Amino acid sequence: MEKAERIRVRVPGKVNLALRVGGHRADGYHPLDTVFQAVSLFDEVEALPAPRGVRTVRVLGDQASLVPTDESNLALKAAQALASYAGMRQPGVELVIRKTIPVTGGMAGGSADAAAALIACAALWRIDVAPDELAVVAAGLGADVPFCLMGSTALGRGRGDELVPMLSRGSYHWVLALPDVELSTPEVFARFDELNPDAGPAPETPPGLLAGLASGDIAQVADNLVNDLQPAAVSLRPHLADVLAAGVDAGALAGIVSGSGPTCAFLSENEDAAVRLSNALAGSDLARAVRRVCAPVPGARLLSC
Ligand code: ATP
Repeated sequence: MEKAERIRVRVPGKVNLALRVGGHRADGYHPLDTVFQAVSLFDEVEALPAPRGVRTVRVLGDQASLVPTDESNLALKAAQALASYAGMRQPGVELVIRKTIPVTGGMAGGSADAAAALIACAALWRIDVAPDELAVVAAGLGADVPFCLMGSTALGRGRGDELVPMLSRGSYHWVLALPDVELSTPEVFARFDELNPDAGPAPETPPGLLAGLASGDIAQVADNLVNDLQPAAVSLRPHLADVLAAGVDAGALAGIVSGSGPTCAFLSENEDAAVRLSNALAGSDLARAVRRVCAPVPGARLLSC
């Protein structure tokens, strides 16, 4: 008997080193100028054959109960979008997601699963799709999905989906604190609108950040981290201010809310400093979990086929 095909894709979460946000446009989106960096916290998406017309998803991991398994799951939406793009009639797939990226953590976990599902289904269904075509399908699924395909470090404009890969030297050691509070992306953007009623186009990414990344100057990168959503996130969940202060007190070069939060990301000088910082934060009761990651890492990639 032929062995069942087992296709696994590994996909990273992201932090935004800069997230500059403009006032919301008529189409409801906020213009962004952002620098994404993919970090070594990975979800894995497996695609298994299923009968024609049957598409299901199972989610495994501590936070699995927080992820929908109906057609609103972003990985299932990605499978549907790819089938439509390729003009296939009702191909089947059973998706299994092993979640490690925090759910609603501001690290694009759902978008990551969508990117991984695109690659996994393309392999399972033997669709010969070029990377730039896949990026078009990805952009239709959500603003962060193209970056989850690309990975590494990239500048994003428009909704964050007009991507340019960036020159980035060096390895970055991050400590992620996952506070035990909930924060949804729409809630944070709504507070941003309240706090910034006159916001115009997205401000530019600090030139010092781009220079620091190009030269691998970690201190310069740390000095130029910026997140325009951070005041909104902190005003909704003041606990985040305590987490950010604790990370800096424990030796981080800088701390920032990741995306719309609530994950807080701390940049360390080197690996030893990151170990000390993660031990200090894990010993406090400020976060439900602490993870040490490095960056940049590649985007969604097949593990086997
Ligand atoms: P972003 O920063 O992209 O707005 P996030 O990282 O804060 O998002 P996600 O983990 O992507 O948050 O979850 C956003 C919403 O998407 C949640 O309500 C979640 O239940 C839903 N969702 C749908 N599919 C998935 C999936 N495969 N993995 C995680 N969340 C999913």
